[in-house]
Amino acid sequence: MQEFSIIEQYFTNQTQPRRDVLVGVGDDCAITQIPENHVLATTTDTLVSGIHFLPETNPADIAHKALAVNLSDLAAMGATPAWVSLALTLPDANEDWLSEFADSFARLCEYYSINLIGGDTTRGPLSITITAQGFVPPDSVIKRSGARPGDAIFVTGTLGDAGAGLGLLKETLTEENVALDSLAASYLLLRHNTPTPRVLAGTTLRRKVSSCIDISDGLIGDIQHIMKASQCGANINVGALPISNELLSFVSPEYAIELALSAGDDYELLFTVPQDQIEEVKTAMHSVSIPITQIGQMTGDGELHLKQNNQAYITQASAYQHEIPLHG
Ligand code: ADP
Ligand code: MG
Repeated sequence: MQEFSIIEQYFTNQTQPRRDVLVGVGDDCAITQIPENHVLATTTDTLVSGIHFLPETNPADIAHKALAVNLSDLAAMGATPAWVSLALTLPDANEDWLSEFADSFARLCEYYSINLIGGDTTRGPLSITITAQGFVPPDSVIKRSGARPGDAIFVTGTLGDAGAGLGLLKETLTEENVALDSLAASYLLLRHNTPTPRVLAGTTLRRKVSSCIDISDGLIGDIQHIMKASQCGANINVGALPISNELLSFVSPEYAIELALSAGDDYELLFTVPQDQIEEVKTAMHSVSIPITQIGQMTGDGELHLKQNNQAYITQASAYQHEIPLHG
């Protein structure tokens, strides 16, 4: 199959067209209209086979994840997603693979009312690069740099599920720490393969929070990005980390905490809230049915302290990162 017929068959007019796309797939550039009083948010992420996903991953899940991780970055800035570009490098033009990939991609685009506006199609080792763009009013942009000492630290949803899902795929969750339960297993696998970007959470948090980041590398890594950008420290109460029942049915509470702290790939939002905004944030997130949990507080000392029952918590993170080398 030729590049042009691939583009035409799988990547042209797959979804309801947006009116702000003046020229989409097919010309030398896409031409798009930014709404008045908004600024453009742009992000790019690449997924490489064997590095960011297991080579045997099915094409529908690859498409979902590649798009979701980009939408998650937009969400973390408070932006509403609008347009995406897709640079696809394929070892061969397998039509079954392309059809499953393109269907899944289009389904997620349709769900968020976004359009694929262009891209590039090349031959080589499987890799997917997506650029996603969205809008946000300039005074509603949520950066990593706005946290202040005393701000409460919150996360959406639950942590550690995706890490456990990867452990199941790679069979690094061994018999000692696994009690088999197939419903819980499929939930954890879904959390790993098809993460849900917190788009609605991001826009709901606009003008209410002081900083935000999406958790892709793990809580410990990502809170440090906020600390560095905001020149703050942080106290995290590991006893407060939100852990799903599905995860607890698989691993010990201790191992669940380790996954929640370090495994990554959950794509939940981590954000900081000034004390006088906490009630407003709780009400707003409750009204859109997005669970949030306070897990700590920003400090002025520049350091990260993990605590459990008021004592220092020692993480085993470095020990098991070897078992989950795919993360990146
Ligand atoms: P050019 O040579 O001008 O860069 P290409 O042949 O690479 O054009 O692409 C032709 C058109 O198809 C362009 O509009 C480009 O944006 C679009 N396109 C190419 N690959 C993809 C893809 N995988 N998904 C969406 N659009 C694509
Ligand atoms: Mg090109």
